[in-house]
Amino acid sequence: MGGFFGTVSKSSCVTDLFYGTDYNSHLGTKRGGLATYSQEKGFIRSIHNLESTYFRSKFEGELDKFKGNAGIGIISDTDAQPIIINSHLGRFAIVTVAKISNIQELEEDLLNQNMHFAELSSSNTNQTELIALLIIQGRTFTEGIENVFKHIKGSCSLLILTEDGSIIAARDQWGRTPVVIGKKDGAYAATSESSSFPNLDYEIEKYLGPGEIVRMYPDHIEQLRQPNEGMQICSFLWVYYGFPTSCYEGKNVEEVRFTSGMKMGQKDESEVDCACGIPDSGVGMALGYAEGKGVPYHRAISKYTPTWPRSFTPSNQEMRSLVAKMKLIPNRAMLQGKRLLFCDDSIVRGTQLRDNVKILYDYGAKEVHMRIACPPLIYACPFVGFSASKNALELITRRIIKELEGDENKNLEKYATTGSPEYEKMVSIIAERFGLTSLKFNTLETLIEAIGLPKCKVCTHCFDGSSHF
Ligand code: SF4
Repeated sequence: MGGFFGTVSKSSCVTDLFYGTDYNSHLGTKRGGLATYSQEKGFIRSIHNLESTYFRSKFEGELDKFKGNAGIGIISDTDAQPIIINSHLGRFAIVTVAKISNIQELEEDLLNQNMHFAELSSSNTNQTELIALLIIQGRTFTEGIENVFKHIKGSCSLLILTEDGSIIAARDQWGRTPVVIGKKDGAYAATSESSSFPNLDYEIEKYLGPGEIVRMYPDHIEQLRQPNEGMQICSFLWVYYGFPTSCYEGKNVEEVRFTSGMKMGQKDESEVDCACGIPDSGVGMALGYAEGKGVPYHRAISKYTPTWPRSFTPSNQEMRSLVAKMKLIPNRAMLQGKRLLFCDDSIVRGTQLRDNVKILYDYGAKEVHMRIACPPLIYACPFVGFSASKNALELITRRIIKELEGDENKNLEKYATTGSPEYEKMVSIIAERFGLTSLKFNTLETLIEAIGLPKCKVCTHCFDGSSHF
């Protein structure tokens, strides 16, 4: 997915920029980048590969070279950013949190208009550069960003650092990804994750609406485009991506996870000794489940945090499985002879679940019940670059549907309907395959209730195929 942070201040922006960007590290694993602007030095930019190490360790040593009161930073899951462009709109640096499903088509269109692409570092077209080229087709930045909204399929939120030292922040036209504006004395900031703000003393000023564009100065913000009415914010932000202290649309991630677990616990009739969370994103739900069910919360499995932060997610599947296994350590003393109920965010491929369940039994668990924060993932995500579900057949649900129906695309609505015979069959096969005593997924209704926004404002496409683009 990726996350960004930008700040414009009356004094040097560098410290806030560095930590504010770092606080988006859980959203991306490939590239990190920073750009600052000062009248004396112009644009200063740096980009590093984050595939084998972390943002802070890569940028700490070169912080002295960044100068100025305005800067933007990015943790990217895809392309090298920020991109710096010289155009009829002036020089500007840009970062994006985007997924463009029709990138080839747009690339061809732009090449046919005699435009060119210069950033081919990973031999593919850099989508941030493509977005910059669409922007410079407008007579103003606002018109250019509207041109992006008009042409891309997928989603795009962005920050632009301009030569007058201001920052333009724009949220995706359907609001699939968030942009939060923060304020403190003498500075404004924009970020994907509001958890960047508390330790840098920013207070949330506003959540940009879908398609809203603002320009930030150190002492005020100016609205360049009003928000659209319709919204489709990604529900997976609350389930999986988001940091617990973050809020989107005023709804806090930890609270949503807690509430969804509590609602599930209140209804669940299974007999268990305790509830446990699979770290990190299953913990909030498990705490809520324990409260709703009236059983204790136990830590029967712990994450080795000193060297395995969540952000370390190699792109290679084999390495990812190894990392997933190595960073979670089971605790025999808390597992032995118990009927345990575990909460986890989601089941994508199922590889991680299989390893986790096996180790729990190996370490003496008597029963392993699993509760999942969201409904089964049936549809791949075309909107936010949810990296784990590029291809529908990577989803365990689709593999089971293929086994049952001979075609992974058949009767999907039935499998996506909680309680239908097809749904029950699919869930029982997953439970059996992994040796689970019981398996239940949260219903879409409970998830939406926990988020607290109207269903029509939230994207739930990967569970019910409800969005069409
Ligand atoms: S399809 Fe799923 S992951 Fe993608 S934007 Fe919608 S809810 Fe989020």
